[in-house]
Amino acid sequence: MRRSLILVVAVMFILNITAIFFVGHRKAPTPSQQPTIGGMSRIPPEKEKPKVEPVKPPQRALPDFVQIQKHRQSEEGTVYGDIISHSKGKPFGDQGGRGTNAHETTHGINSEIRNAHTNQGKKINGFYVLEGRGVVLEEPKIKMEHAKKFVPKNLQSYRWDLYLVKQLRDWNDTPTYICDEWVAYINGGACDVDDVKKGKHKGGWTDGVSGCCDFTIYTIALCMATKELDPDYWKNYKQFRNFVVWEMRFAQKIFLEGRVMKEFKWDKQDKLLLEFLESPEAEAMRKFVREELDGVWLDINPADIKKTSFMLLVPEYTESRIDREIVLGLNITHHRARL
Ligand SMILES: [Zn+2]
Repeated sequence: MRRSLILVVAVMFILNITAIFFVGHRKAPTPSQQPTIGGMSRIPPEKEKPKVEPVKPPQRALPDFVQIQKHRQSEEGTVYGDIISHSKGKPFGDQGGRGTNAHETTHGINSEIRNAHTNQGKKINGFYVLEGRGVVLEEPKIKMEHAKKFVPKNLQSYRWDLYLVKQLRDWNDTPTYICDEWVAYINGGACDVDDVKKGKHKGGWTDGVSGCCDFTIYTIALCMATKELDPDYWKNYKQFRNFVVWEMRFAQKIFLEGRVMKEFKWDKQDKLLLEFLESPEAEAMRKFVREELDGVWLDINPADIKKTSFMLLVPEYTESRIDREIVLGLNITHHRARL
């Protein structure tokens, strides 16, 4: 009797130890195993980490592009070769320098794009924007001269008379002729800057990148005139606005790269940029750029421009070869810039 009592106690002891062992080693229930009440978990799940949405860069609207075929072999891997190889017609030639060739040959490709995409009834224009891409635009229903009143006197560069006075006689019915010149100057500037970087630039100083700045100003004026006089086009035809914003960004990049290169530095172009960024006369234009053109160019800090301007050499010249109207026959005199 006593022995069986001891046996019972011993068995109960062993069972108890075993029970403790198993309970102690049971895994905690996973959330899916947890009992729920009406679908709600009774035991609060581990605190979930707040979801961090990746910050997406703002979507930049692009213009629609058309593909431009290569028509000839030229240098691989340079802006110069890009432009020359996409010209169906004979390129202008290097007699005035590679940048001038890039500018003038761009005019030729622009005209080829215009002719290839002529649409019955609609007046269009075309622009070669490098890397085998063209942009086709419908013309707004305004005259080129309408852009003039939006350019204050202090933003009228040394090219004003040639393009906005003389050329206007032939191009008044084609207001985006301003963009034709703009793109030609940007491509010419891009070629010049690229050539300096790659050791291909020859022939000393030129006003190689100034057209990126003054024709950006004239293009902004064209947009202001378009909004005022053809508001439906401005509001609904986003191809124009998207093209301008996109090309303005590229013009800014080329100008800022080129303006500090000794081959292109010039107090006059910096002064024009500072007038655009700071002068009260240009406030209406800046307001338009802020509200309608994504504020491109306005992120340039005037202090940075002033800081790098004191060392400029001021070339004196009378003519430029671009567009055959003026010759880049430069008689460079070195003296301090007066900003
Ligand atoms: Zn031109």
